[in-house]
Amino acid sequence: MIRRSGLIILLMSCWLGAVNSYAAEVHNVRVWIAPDHARLVFDLSAAVQHKLFTLKKPDRIVLDVADATLLSDLQAVDLTNSPVSLMRSGSRNGGKDLRIVLDLKEQVKPKSFVLKPNDQYGNRLVVDLYRDVAPEAPQKSAVATADDPATLRDIVIAIDAGHGGEDPGAIGPGRVKEKTVVLAIAQELNELLKKERGFQPRLTRDGDYYISLRSRTERARKMNADMFVSIHADGFQDHRARGASVWVLSPRGASSEMGRWLAQKENSADLIGGVGGVSLEDKDDVLAKVLLDMSMTASRSDSRDIARSIHRNMSKFAKMHKTQVEQAGFVVLKSPDIPSILVETGFITNHDEAAKLKSKAYQQKMAQAIFAGIKAHFSAKPPALTWLAWQKEGRGAVKAAPSSYKVVSGDSLSVIANRNGVSLSALLKANGLGNADTIMVGQVLKIPAS
Ligand SMILES: [Zn+2]
Repeated sequence: MIRRSGLIILLMSCWLGAVNSYAAEVHNVRVWIAPDHARLVFDLSAAVQHKLFTLKKPDRIVLDVADATLLSDLQAVDLTNSPVSLMRSGSRNGGKDLRIVLDLKEQVKPKSFVLKPNDQYGNRLVVDLYRDVAPEAPQKSAVATADDPATLRDIVIAIDAGHGGEDPGAIGPGRVKEKTVVLAIAQELNELLKKERGFQPRLTRDGDYYISLRSRTERARKMNADMFVSIHADGFQDHRARGASVWVLSPRGASSEMGRWLAQKENSADLIGGVGGVSLEDKDDVLAKVLLDMSMTASRSDSRDIARSIHRNMSKFAKMHKTQVEQAGFVVLKSPDIPSILVETGFITNHDEAAKLKSKAYQQKMAQAIFAGIKAHFSAKPPALTWLAWQKEGRGAVKAAPSSYKVVSGDSLSVIANRNGVSLSALLKANGLGNADTIMVGQVLKIPAS
């Protein structure tokens, strides 16, 4: 009985298939929201040809997919916080092609491309909708004097949680994903650094969305970061593999990257740190190479120093993969001017380590070890004109605490109060502000004596 009805269903679906056969089916739609863009991913049964164009009044995006049909319910897709108000579909060419229309709430720059299958997903069509967001204001260039602590800057730490969105990273037992675990550790580290006077942490991503490897280092550069730390968890087919590790850029990776920067000198104006904002564009090849080499050598030596310090702290409680810092040509480590390290927090494919990495307590321990390593390095070797350098030179002891503070992008009243060691209510009172008042970048606040 059961068998016979199964046969009927099978025959029916063959018959339906014969009437309407498409090269591809769209069987699912996923949305990832990042601060500067939204990504729509259409899961497909096969590769497709597509065309994207925009229409005005009202603003909308049209996606034509050749020889395809829609099996997914567009109404069910959660568009909260996306620039899209409504997604609808229709057909073209006598029902042969699929048309998807995105009605927009705001103007965006769309970009579309296809992705080949990977371990987790099949063929995909991706539509990125970029919002118009103002770039973050650089803070390193602020005019500072060593005598006025109010003008001293914080040390900016770029914290990079690996993977995200479409890219889950390594996957462990119980489908625990690297992207989730490393984001949690990154957020813990962010909290620890926020509480530490003299530091200003920034996350390259603070949600479940994908950022390309190069744009992670670009973000660090835009933040004027003093250091970049990328957080990962390893994966391996052999589930016995275990151990945490700390990585810096290999000499080979460094020299190939130097070649890349020299080949595109026009982009090198972005370089900070050792090259000190000096453009390589108008320098002859030899001088450009010398400048870049100096910068990269300095930042690699700092990277090794920070990495060793983190390795030491992690080895106090975690099983380490190797007894020292390791080297590789990872793309995210390739900033020639920003000391960069990569932390593999353990093997997520290993049962014991996955269980630990999933737990809040262990994530906090890991973040604490990275934090301690960063703090040890910068306390011993603070960059010039930072609050930490001023403190180290002993001037913090004889001079009063800063009496004013200039608001920078990303600040909040509670963060400013915390960093200056005063209570939020005292800070509000000193400036005649209410709890609900907002502050603006560039605004100068009075810091009361604590
Ligand atoms: Zn990873």
